[in-house]
Parts: sequence; structure tokens; C-alpha cells
Amino acid sequence: MTETTNIKAYGTEAAEAPLNQLGIDRRKPTAHDVEIDILYCGVCHSDLHTARNEWHGTIYPCVPGHEIVGKIVSVGDHVSKFKVGDVVGVGCMVDSCRECQYCQEGLEQYCEPGMTGTYNSPDKYLDTPTFGGYSENVVVDENFVLRIPENLELAATAPLLCAGITTYSPLRHWNVGPGKKVGIVGIGGLGHMGIKIAKAMGAEVVAFTTSESKFAEAKRLGADEVVMSKDAGQMAAYQGKLHFILDAVSAEHDINAYLGLLRVDGSLALVGAPENPLPVAAFSLIAGRKSFSGSMIGGIAETQEMLDFCGEHNIVADIEMIDIQQINDAYERLLKGDVKYRFVIDMASLKNQD
Ligand code: NAP
Ligand code: ZN
Ligand code: ZN
Repeated sequence: MTETTNIKAYGTEAAEAPLNQLGIDRRKPTAHDVEIDILYCGVCHSDLHTARNEWHGTIYPCVPGHEIVGKIVSVGDHVSKFKVGDVVGVGCMVDSCRECQYCQEGLEQYCEPGMTGTYNSPDKYLDTPTFGGYSENVVVDENFVLRIPENLELAATAPLLCAGITTYSPLRHWNVGPGKKVGIVGIGGLGHMGIKIAKAMGAEVVAFTTSESKFAEAKRLGADEVVMSKDAGQMAAYQGKLHFILDAVSAEHDINAYLGLLRVDGSLALVGAPENPLPVAAFSLIAGRKSFSGSMIGGIAETQEMLDFCGEHNIVADIEMIDIQQINDAYERLLKGDVKYRFVIDMASLKNQD
């Protein structure tokens, strides 16, 4: 039997229930594990989709959180990459089969039998689902732990572990760089990272938003141009102009309107994961030999590459720090697009709660 420790966490017992404090079991570190005292955890829209069972696979109780940064407090006997005191990150995965073709290529996120998500996956050691970063600590195999560049502010680095890699990976895959005009749609946690990273890669960046207040300030994030996507006139000006579009919208929206903005041979990659299907018209694709695709987070090596890239370019998220007790309000604000641009939980607020 795996030995465990009971710790404090924040999670939910049902789709309709608010998050509140609960106790969960963490395994004691095995030979290849590190135990991380969680300092900060970002709030991804996927946390909300999952807590509320919008993707129809949630196992309860559910403890979300996959943008984790913290300090290593103990290491197993065979750990060689990290030591006690190291400041590290954990993203959306804590394990994978490590043997399939995709794991061997560093694409653990597409592992054939399925990667182990940081939360809501079958736990390889315990009879519970995996529990995420809205908790005091986490125990993770060292191969799924990332190094944080020393120059980056720690709390604002947490969102890189999901929002950063989820935008970096497709921007790299579709060769975004100098000479490319790139659209970023939906300026939330993912979208605002997409602007910063695409700009640092050397592309010309056009931000598309439905929010007046973001329209006014997306240039500060690094966008060269900003489009109010609800304004048909502004959209029309970009018809056929973009090489690539990264769509990070969390809700239903008209994909065809964006496919129309691509040049011939252009691609639109969806990273946003709305609850319901998005209809695509045949002529949106065939007129212009366009591609409509998707991308999920990134592999472990690529996540480290992204963190090092952000370290070199001094890129972190724009954050609003919250206490864990504010998480239910934060979810409501997330649904309104009312966050600039990522909530990050100060995990001391959980440790200090009785
Ligand atoms: P977020 O911070 O809530 O941002 C989503 C943005 O979408 C909003 O800020 C808003 O931008 C726009 N939006 C929201 N509702 C809209 C509507 N009805 N019509 C048009 N635009 C709307 O969420 P996030 O954390 O960035 O996540 C975005 C999506 O990506 C979520 O579905 C999440 O689950 C998914 N995700 C996918 C992956 C992956 O691996 N593919 C990883 C992480 C997250 P404006 O205010 O600028 O319009
Ligand atoms: Zn996420
Ligand atoms: Zn695999």
C-alpha cells in the first residue's frame, strides 16, 4: 500500500457546488519523486470547465490547478535533477506512459494510452483521481518537474506552466516569426501570453478582442494592432491578411469569421476548448486552401524550452493575485472576461486557513 499524508486543498464535490476546503491524500515521495510546497497556482479556464463538468468527464471530488510553482521540500532517494530548496514548476501533466512513440518524441501530451493530467486523471499510485495545485503541496516524478528561470517573478511565472506553453507550442509548430502576420483571438490568460510570445518570436501581432477595455490596452501587451472583433468594419479590413491565427476563446464564437482573415494556405489553430461544437463552413476552408487545427499544451522538454525563452525575453503573465477563499468569485469574473489577465492564488491563504 502506498503511504499517504492528508493535506488541505480546495475543490468541489459536484458540478453545481462551489469550491470549498477539503482534505486530500498525497502519496509520500517515492524514490523518483519530489515533494513541492506550493507557493502560487494560476487559475486556468480549464479549471472552471472541469470543476463544472463542462467537458463531461469530471471525477469528484475535483481539486483543480495546473499552473503550479513552489519550492522542493523533500526528494526521493533516486532523484538526480533537483534538490531540496529548488524553485520549480508543474504544469498540466504529472506522468505519461513514457514508452509510446509520442512520449519518446517528447510529445507526452499526446501519449497513446493517455498522459496523467495534474488533476482529474486516474492516479497511478492511489485509488483517487489526481488532485491539482489548489492545495498545500504536490508530489511529482522529477521527470515532470520544470526549472524556473531565476530572473522571473515567481507568482507571475505560474501561468506560463499552462497558458505559456499552450500558446508557445502552436506558435513554434506553425513557424511564427519575422515576416509573419499573426492573429491572437480572445485576450484572456492564454491570449495575452500568446501576444507576448508571438511578439518575442518576431512576428507582427494583431489582437482580436470583444472587450472595450482590452482594446485600449492590448498594445501595451505587445500587439502591433488591435481589432474589436464585434465590429464588422474592423474585421473586414483584415480579410485575407493573416498567415496564422491562434484562437484562445473559451466560449462559442464564429470560427468562419476568423478563417476569412487567413491568407491562402493560412492556418487557424484552436487552443480554446468551448463546451459545444463550433460549426465550420466548407467554403471557409476550401476557398484559400486553409487549415483548421488544434493544439494541446506542450511536451515537457518544450515546456522547459518555453520557460527558458521567457527567462531570456523577460516574459511573465500580467496577474491579479487572489486568496483561495476568493476562488468562486474569480470563476464568475473569468466567465465575464473580467481578469487582466490571469488570477494567481497565493497559496499561503490556504495554509493559514484552519
Ligand atoms: P480566459 O482567461 O477566460 O480567456 C478567454 C477569453 O475568451 C476571454 O478573455 C475573452 O477574450 C474571450 N471570450 C470569452 N467568452 C467569449 C465569447 N462568448 N465570445 C467571444 N470571446 C469570448 O480563459 P483561458 O484560461 O485563457 O482559456 C481559454 C480557453 O483555452 C479555455 O476554453 C480553456 O479551457 C482552453 N485551454 C486549452 C488548452 C489546450 O491545451 N488547448 C490549455 C489551456 C486552456 P476577450 O475579452 O479578449 O474577447
Ligand atoms: Zn490550463
Ligand atoms: Zn506515451
